[in-house]
Amino acid sequence: MSIQSFHPPVRTLMGPGPSDVNPRILEAMSRPTIGHLDPEFVNMMDQMKELLRYAFQTSNELTMPVSAPGSAGMEMCFVNLVEPGDKVIVCQNGVFGGRMKENVERCGGTAVMVEDDWGVAVDPQKVEEALKANPDAKILAFVHAETSTGAISDAKTLTALAHQHDCLVIVDAVTSLAGSPLMVSDWDIDAIYSGTQKCLSCVPGLSPVSFSQRAVDVITSRKTKVQSWFLDLNLVLGYWGGGAKRAYHHTAPVNTLYALHEALVILQEEGIENSWARHQKNHDALRSGLEAMGLSFVVPEGQRLPQLNAVSIPDGVDEAAVRSALLNEYNLEIGAGLGAMAGKIWRVGLMGFASNQTNVLFCLGALDAVLSGMKAPVHSGVAVAAARAVYG
Ligand SMILES: *Cc1c(COP(=O)(O)O)cnc(C)c1O
Repeated sequence: MSIQSFHPPVRTLMGPGPSDVNPRILEAMSRPTIGHLDPEFVNMMDQMKELLRYAFQTSNELTMPVSAPGSAGMEMCFVNLVEPGDKVIVCQNGVFGGRMKENVERCGGTAVMVEDDWGVAVDPQKVEEALKANPDAKILAFVHAETSTGAISDAKTLTALAHQHDCLVIVDAVTSLAGSPLMVSDWDIDAIYSGTQKCLSCVPGLSPVSFSQRAVDVITSRKTKVQSWFLDLNLVLGYWGGGAKRAYHHTAPVNTLYALHEALVILQEEGIENSWARHQKNHDALRSGLEAMGLSFVVPEGQRLPQLNAVSIPDGVDEAAVRSALLNEYNLEIGAGLGAMAGKIWRVGLMGFASNQTNVLFCLGALDAVLSGMKAPVHSGVAVAAARAVYG
């Protein structure tokens, strides 16, 4: 047997990530690999930090990409800020809050859980009660955009509450960055991580992070060593923060960093406010089409993420068969439910480059055809027109 080169099919990616990658980014990625200590590469890294500060809307000095996916950014925040014995209040309203709890416990900390139903925002009142009941808590951790359910939480209010009670915050912005308003410095967020494959529409594999001075002070005055060598910020900074005297820590994923640089240049060209507005507009059109079809949203209005649309599956419909038909006949990927939502919802992503009018109309047309063909209880033939009406 001789194995041939791999040629993936061309899909439209409208799931929970990865999202469609802008061809400019793929082209950037194919440029020549150079050394990760090459002065030209170091210049590119400096630009990258500047571009990331723009994406996060922050002036934080310590802003950079971690050389691994979003989960590593999450882990970097927890392993550097949580020491054995620390108490962390963790909000859970979906899958990713559960991973935060797991991180706290693996760092030797204690997680105090604030639970909300899956599909709604984190309730600030419950958080305030937990902060009052746990005056010794050091950190409040929450997910800004819960990709497993499509709910957005009020990061500004939650951060202000934490600071009133002398807690730092760790925020998961993997799906919110570039898709929903996020102002890291204005809102005074201490530690935040994201991913490249959601609303930045870059290839997967990197995790932008940013830390406030308050967080840096806590990290540099730790009593114990960070248990992860790879994610220890004190060491990583020798490379990313080293100025002219950069030291080898690990080999940077050179070409993937070219990709992120290009993604951030594209974001800067569009303007971040315009990117937020585009995500909202395409969500409005998709919502109009889905509702005309008779499908209903899981998350209450006002708490919905524009970039991740969770809809209930109509009665009697084989949800996996629908996703297979979309993939096989239309080369269109939408997401299944995750965790407690498995089998109950579809997750239609409109992230980054994938958030455009063509995709919205294509997805609605395909879903309409597949569901109608299965005799599902939906109104057929009206979704596309309802979405077009939103675009005017
Ligand atoms: C996707 C996602 C992650 C994990 O990112 P990976 O790149 O898959 O490791 C974490 N949190 C949220 C909210 C996500 O959507």
